[in-house]
Amino acid sequence: MRRKLVMLVAVCAVFGWSAPALAQRTYKLEELPEVPLDTLDTANPKAKIITYTNNTWRYWIPDYDRLASGGVYDDHWVTNQVFAYRDVNIADVPETMEIKLVESLADYHAPVLGRISSRYGPRGKGMHKGIDIGLPTGEPIYATFEGKVRYARYNSGGYGYLVILRHPNGLETYYGHLCKLNVDVNDYVVAGQIIGYGGNTGRSRGAHLHFEVRYADLTFDPERIIDFSTGELKWQNFVLERGYFNVSSKLTEALEEEEGDMGDMFVDKNGNPLSSEAIVDNLEKAASKPRPTVNDAIYYKVKSGDNLYKIAAKYGTTVGAICRLNGIKSSTPIRIGQRLRVK
Ligand SMILES: [Zn+2]
Repeated sequence: MRRKLVMLVAVCAVFGWSAPALAQRTYKLEELPEVPLDTLDTANPKAKIITYTNNTWRYWIPDYDRLASGGVYDDHWVTNQVFAYRDVNIADVPETMEIKLVESLADYHAPVLGRISSRYGPRGKGMHKGIDIGLPTGEPIYATFEGKVRYARYNSGGYGYLVILRHPNGLETYYGHLCKLNVDVNDYVVAGQIIGYGGNTGRSRGAHLHFEVRYADLTFDPERIIDFSTGELKWQNFVLERGYFNVSSKLTEALEEEEGDMGDMFVDKNGNPLSSEAIVDNLEKAASKPRPTVNDAIYYKVKSGDNLYKIAAKYGTTVGAICRLNGIKSSTPIRIGQRLRVK
């Protein structure tokens, strides 16, 4: 009996130290102090990763000031409109240009891998100025080449959430219908950095990425430089000919994504004009289409071979952040088919 009491006293003495700590409130990840902890190299020598004491990380580009200023980033830099080169005509562009796409393999990453649902080219009365790639909503979208973010916002002309990157060689790449943006205007990104997450915003039926490549606002077929079936880049140096450009590139800043989508408002299925009441009805319907919020949560369905570290790396987040969003611990087993919130 006496022995048991001694034991109890001893146990209380040990736990006495930790009891106040256990009683303290817990903190959310973003409330913890964010002190840089370490610098890690990435596959790309231009970018490093800084880890913080609160278990988060960020890209860091040591040479940001030199890379993100001068040259193509000083000329026609417009961040609130889709088109930046309104005063440049197709006739002003050289007949052929040799364009260096990459120095090394680390300078390229496929925007996303998936089934091509629509190619570049004429569509109905309009013109499809990019390529469509089907994807599940929330799929990470990667910067194809390094460059500076010229546009990152909701576009009411049909692109939905849209990111436009300008690259050092003067090309621009467009990424439309995103469900969430992961960059801000004037950010500098390296190839393979997650710039947003694929979705179905804007004039879009079904989640897909609308991807365009432009030079001086002029479009050409992205399949000239990327093999979308494998995700591979076709050239290190690419000869861009004026003849590749679509003459109607600058006709409108709106995205003619769906064949006859705009025309549907004014004509019936057979192309006959609608009554004015029906037209007003259609216009009201289009205007009241809700604008999705940019903070939509992103979910991921666990696949065979996944673990929390793999999933966190894929979505550019941390295991700690995923655990917090789902109320689980890093040691909690995950199962195939489970839906996890990742953003
Ligand atoms: Zn498209």
